[in-house]
Amino acid sequence: MKIHAISEYAHQFTRLGLVNCYLVRESDSFTLIDTTVPGGAKTIIAAARAIAQVPIARLLLTHAHGDHIGSLDALAAALGQPQVAIGKREARLLPKKPAQDRSLDSSEAQCKLKGGFSGAATAPTHLLSDGELYGSLRVVASPGHTPGHLAFLDERDGTLYAGDAVVTVGGTVHVVGFGPWYFPFAGMATWHRPTALASAKRLAELPIRRYAVGHGRIVEGGPELLRDAIRRAEAKLR
Ligand SMILES: [Zn+2]
Repeated sequence: MKIHAISEYAHQFTRLGLVNCYLVRESDSFTLIDTTVPGGAKTIIAAARAIAQVPIARLLLTHAHGDHIGSLDALAAALGQPQVAIGKREARLLPKKPAQDRSLDSSEAQCKLKGGFSGAATAPTHLLSDGELYGSLRVVASPGHTPGHLAFLDERDGTLYAGDAVVTVGGTVHVVGFGPWYFPFAGMATWHRPTALASAKRLAELPIRRYAVGHGRIVEGGPELLRDAIRRAEAKLR
């Protein structure tokens, strides 16, 4: 696992060279954003201990795809009773089958969900809504990749934890579903690209100072990088 300090408050952990999770420092504990694929719990916990002797008190999920919730059950078991938080809408996709609810609301694009929803045995303790503050992280609804996808803005340092709403593989900011040809995976797993584009426009209103995403390196820069990506995405839609 590769570990990279990204600000005074956070580290990026990269597994298999391609999937990221983030360890965010709060005053007395850590919040882990996403959990990567299965098999990561021990390494992630050991890495957190090496950074500071405070517990991982919260597991926060951007969405329910298997490469983001893969180590959730093992982490929850190893950490005792951490808080587990996910968006209220996305929580329907978190359980394993048959409890998993893949239905769409009438207000949503009636397209088939894409990507792997492996499901977890761990139940969330907190269901998040757009606009609320969870620790130091502002919750921003960013549907499109999945119907209940959330991004999180750390208001202390301007880091946008964008999950799979944004892809930075290759070092450039892309709206998911409009990414580079050599990294098709997140795009192929995207439920509804026009909704993802609309969400990117909302995200571009935030005081972003860096991008920390599910797939790709950290990119330093402001909302103008996302506005560029939106322009490129719109050109592709035409
Ligand atoms: Zn995903």
